[in-house]
Amino acid sequence: MAERNKNRLLDLLTQEGNNVCADCGCQDPDWASFNLGIYLCVTCAQIHRMLGAHISKVKSIRLDQWNDDQVEFMAANGNRAAKAKYELCVPPSYKRPAESDCQVLREQWIRAKYERHEFMDVDKQTYLSGHKTGYLWKRGKDDSKYQSRLFVLSEEENVIKYYNKQDAKEPKAAIKLSNLNAVFVPDKIGNPNGLQISWVKEGQTRNIYLYTDDGKDIVEWYNAIRHANYNRLKVAYPGTPDEELRSQLSRDFHKEGWLCKTGPKGSEAYRKRWMTLDGRRLLYFAEPLDPNPKGEVFLGNKLDGYFVRDGLPPGRQEEPPNSFSLITPDREYYFSADSSEEQKAWMEALKAACDKPMYPQDQKNKQESKLK
Ligand SMILES: [Zn+2]
Repeated sequence: MAERNKNRLLDLLTQEGNNVCADCGCQDPDWASFNLGIYLCVTCAQIHRMLGAHISKVKSIRLDQWNDDQVEFMAANGNRAAKAKYELCVPPSYKRPAESDCQVLREQWIRAKYERHEFMDVDKQTYLSGHKTGYLWKRGKDDSKYQSRLFVLSEEENVIKYYNKQDAKEPKAAIKLSNLNAVFVPDKIGNPNGLQISWVKEGQTRNIYLYTDDGKDIVEWYNAIRHANYNRLKVAYPGTPDEELRSQLSRDFHKEGWLCKTGPKGSEAYRKRWMTLDGRRLLYFAEPLDPNPKGEVFLGNKLDGYFVRDGLPPGRQEEPPNSFSLITPDREYYFSADSSEEQKAWMEALKAACDKPMYPQDQKNKQESKLK
């Protein structure tokens, strides 16, 4: 009988909808929540376990014993039925995390769905109001200490502001929502709820680093920013499908990490730099949490003379290990990676950026930042 139940479950797993994780969409789930009636990957199953058995009861399909009633319940429900119920009204701007996304996004998505029932009732979606106020821990520009700062988001004013003192009349900074990008960088900040906000001001990229103690709160800030961007784009580009707009609400970095980089002549000493590949922009920093980059490189299309090459140009005497070159019409950049895997990963990421066609917006971005 145990064998029969297991085979029935394995058969259910092949049904459309059940063949991907109900929460992150990754392939081949082999866990299940048997009170919600959904199939899950191991990572999402662990998050379900954290919610407690009053919300979700988790079992392995292959390793645990199943009784007839449980299997019947799984057969009567499944991922598609759960989607119809728990994802009834997910806002188009809401970030649906994938397998590669950080823990806080995955956990809050799962909590929002099954614990708070946020997508069964639009009134619970406070991040759609166009206004958000609250305290966030912000890293000091110069002293690198995190201080609690009041932040105010106003969609109407197209701005997010923060104040250094609670009773200050003027904000310390007012960042246009239409200019900023928000991205979760928990490892870089060293906090699971770490969020980076970047914008370009007078040709210079500025980064601020934030977190909240409560995961729900930081994900709400993130989705409030995305929602404001969504509403603005919806007005600016009427008729554009939601799917296309969604891809423009926030950008995750294509790659980040350390590389050694030499100066413009190529004969200078190699210096360790923290590199961030953000779309068509390659930024390099002395330290990962610096407020401003040391420099930025714009990556145009390969047809305009932007490309990546293994090693250094011929004729050089000494070549550091795992070297590669980035060629632009204005300058050649020479890098050295810590390992051949990193070299390969960076070359692929940079090549992908140069392979992409240029859009009018890319030209505008190039002009706006002081790109070298
Ligand atoms: Zn999953």
